[in-house]
Amino acid sequence: MINEMPDIKNEIHTEDNKKDLMSRFNHGDPFARMSTLYAPTLKEEPADAEIPSHRLLLRGGFIRKTASGLYSYLPLGWRVLKKIEAIIREEMDASGAQECLLPILGPATLWEESGRISKYGPELMRLEDRHERTFVLGPTHEEIMTDLVRHELRSYKGLPLNLYQISTKFRDELRPRFGLMRGREFIMKDAYSFDADIDGMKESFKVMYNVYTTICERLSLKALPVAADAGQIGGADSIEFMALAESGEAAIASCSSCGYAADLEAATARVNVGDGPQSSAGIIEEVSTPGISTIADLARYVGVEEKDCKKAVALLKEPDSDEDPQAIIAMLPGDHELNEVKAYNAFGPYHLMDDEELDQYGLIKGFIGPHNLPAGIQIVADVSLRDSKQWLIGANKADTHYKGAEPDRDFTIDAWIDLVTVCSDDGCPVCSNPLSLTRGIEVGQIFQLANKYSAPLHATFLDKDGKEKPLQMGCYGIGVTRTLAAIVEQHHDDDGIIWPITVAPYEVGIIALDPKHEEVRIAAETLATELSNSGLQVLLDDRDERPGVKFNEADLMGTPVQIVIGKRGIAENTLEVKIRATQEKSSLSTQEAKNSILTLVEELKNR
Ligand code: ATP
Ligand code: MG
Repeated sequence: MINEMPDIKNEIHTEDNKKDLMSRFNHGDPFARMSTLYAPTLKEEPADAEIPSHRLLLRGGFIRKTASGLYSYLPLGWRVLKKIEAIIREEMDASGAQECLLPILGPATLWEESGRISKYGPELMRLEDRHERTFVLGPTHEEIMTDLVRHELRSYKGLPLNLYQISTKFRDELRPRFGLMRGREFIMKDAYSFDADIDGMKESFKVMYNVYTTICERLSLKALPVAADAGQIGGADSIEFMALAESGEAAIASCSSCGYAADLEAATARVNVGDGPQSSAGIIEEVSTPGISTIADLARYVGVEEKDCKKAVALLKEPDSDEDPQAIIAMLPGDHELNEVKAYNAFGPYHLMDDEELDQYGLIKGFIGPHNLPAGIQIVADVSLRDSKQWLIGANKADTHYKGAEPDRDFTIDAWIDLVTVCSDDGCPVCSNPLSLTRGIEVGQIFQLANKYSAPLHATFLDKDGKEKPLQMGCYGIGVTRTLAAIVEQHHDDDGIIWPITVAPYEVGIIALDPKHEEVRIAAETLATELSNSGLQVLLDDRDERPGVKFNEADLMGTPVQIVIGKRGIAENTLEVKIRATQEKSSLSTQEAKNSILTLVEELKNR
């Protein structure tokens, strides 16, 4: 059988044919129509959506879940994303950064070179090709970018350089949740700067700090730059950009007096620590504490505050090879918790001991302390405890504590380390005034990497004197999809999303109240055409639906400027304009409508 080519060419040979054909999906309009837009909305609250952005993006027909942590962007969602990307791209380009695109799939060998293959843990998605070579789906691209430049960026003359891309990242998050906030696949803008020395790296870091500040402003995001832990990416100084929101997963400690602000993972403080009760003879003394195994009970029983007690946390540092794990007791002020990130930075991979492990190391839950510890256990203590003399501690004996214990005299602290999670009202580390805690969404983070990747990957250049030196790097990420969700968190009300006009999928929505009425239809289509031809993005609701449904959906989708055209208005030569953000309504004469709306959109853009 011959596979014949269908005679398409002949069927579309006239201009009229072509025009007909091209209007199949959009009626040949310069604007969009609700009747054909693929934006299925939901009347019901989606069951598993816990925060406003997740709920509203689903309900408004912007995104759909494909599987846990994996989302499809529907036309409306994709339009917003492209606008966010465009703003990010404009600001990156304006700063002199150069856009490129690296492969998402990277050979595991590069990750072995940097040493991150083992450190990154199960979040790193790995797969094998047909030759049984291992690859990773990039969660971030330091290795691939460093590899890209190490062969050809060889002279100081090519420095400084800042390369960036906007592309998909993969992280097999333990708990993907909150819609676009924490996905397993998401879009990130990641940039990497290369400098000849540390001073240069710091200058590049400053440039990107400025760029991020401007991007947040242009996206109408209220964001706070905070000191951060460098996490899996590493390096020294790091700053996160936190969009302030109740629903944020991150906590921020900040000082209203001096402006200090830090991610709770990294925040330090002057912790106000008390002393336990004195012992009568001035030496360490046993106190019988039957069944008193929590700090709260102990404080009450002894008649002191929780901050006057010392808390012991038992953990096991996981060994590099087949050695035994190292048992560690971390001593903390009784009213503070262990900060897992600080502990990880101090000990490397570790876990808290379970009941079986406590038994195995001869430790009694609720009565652990630094005096008379079984041999081989290290003792570390939070730095805030250094000046406390009278320690009320567990006695490593059931139903017993010690009071009046003293470090150096009764036990030795192997290391004093900052280990606590800061609480509100702890003293600011800069000015001592009380800190307060707020919540935020980490939309971006910038890092000073120095030679963290260039050294292991041997990415060097020749300086002016012909000396070989490592490139000094910085890296800079913004979660594009998370930013979209963060904008919704900051811009919504009970009725739906309130898009800032700069990122709205359509700037103007025209609601034709009675589209079957010829005059209404013509007036609405004419205005939509005129506004589109003047450069606005217009969505015409031409559906044969009840007005209430149309109003509700326009509000749910967050269209910034909404114009209502109905029979009565046409008779009176007027139409109604509503501003979504303020709910302000006004009446316009049909003649001046176009110019007034153009002016209004311009005004909203500059607000
Ligand atoms: P988090 O602490 O929230 O897990 P992170 O510090 O691991 O984030 P970075 O490595 O700094 O993230 O990545 C840069 C940016 O990428 C983040 O600031 C965030 O906006 C975005 N991002 C990171 N992980 C995710 C994710 N799972 N889903 C969506 N966006 C993400
Ligand atoms: Mg981060």
